[in-house]
Amino acid sequence: MKFVLDPALGKLTKWLRILGHDAIYWRGDQKGLMKLAERENRVIITKTRKILQESQGRLTVFFVTENNPFLQLKEVIEGLKLKVKPEDLFSRCLICNEKLISIPPEAVRGRVPDYVYRTQGSFSECPKCRRVFWGGTHYERMMEDLRRAIGEDNGGEF
Ligand SMILES: [Zn+2]
Repeated sequence: MKFVLDPALGKLTKWLRILGHDAIYWRGDQKGLMKLAERENRVIITKTRKILQESQGRLTVFFVTENNPFLQLKEVIEGLKLKVKPEDLFSRCLICNEKLISIPPEAVRGRVPDYVYRTQGSFSECPKCRRVFWGGTHYERMMEDLRRAIGEDNGGEF
């Protein structure tokens, strides 16, 4: 399932990417958003009632009622019955939405802090912006947020 989210849902877009989903954050007008959803067969996630009304029957629209991004995430996971798969977590660039590619530690030497190079075993890179990603404290903190947001009863082994 691929998504496109309206301009009110930037944080939720990031969280869907953390879960590994293809999620486009749309910052243009409503017409463009609906066109993109139709062309690329994307589910629209929106807080705008007008989009829900205008696309009725033609496009798949999920209407978000919550204001807090974590509650929105929970709402979307439950509403669309998304599975949270551990192997998909952090597999996508949070900025570009591109799938990350695994790269050997030698390839990141000089591109990440020395300490990170020495202590982390696996790295990945975004093919578009060339940012390097790795585990560590940042990752752990996000995992904790995620567990808190979606709870134990999400149906996955995560
Ligand atoms: Zn990127």
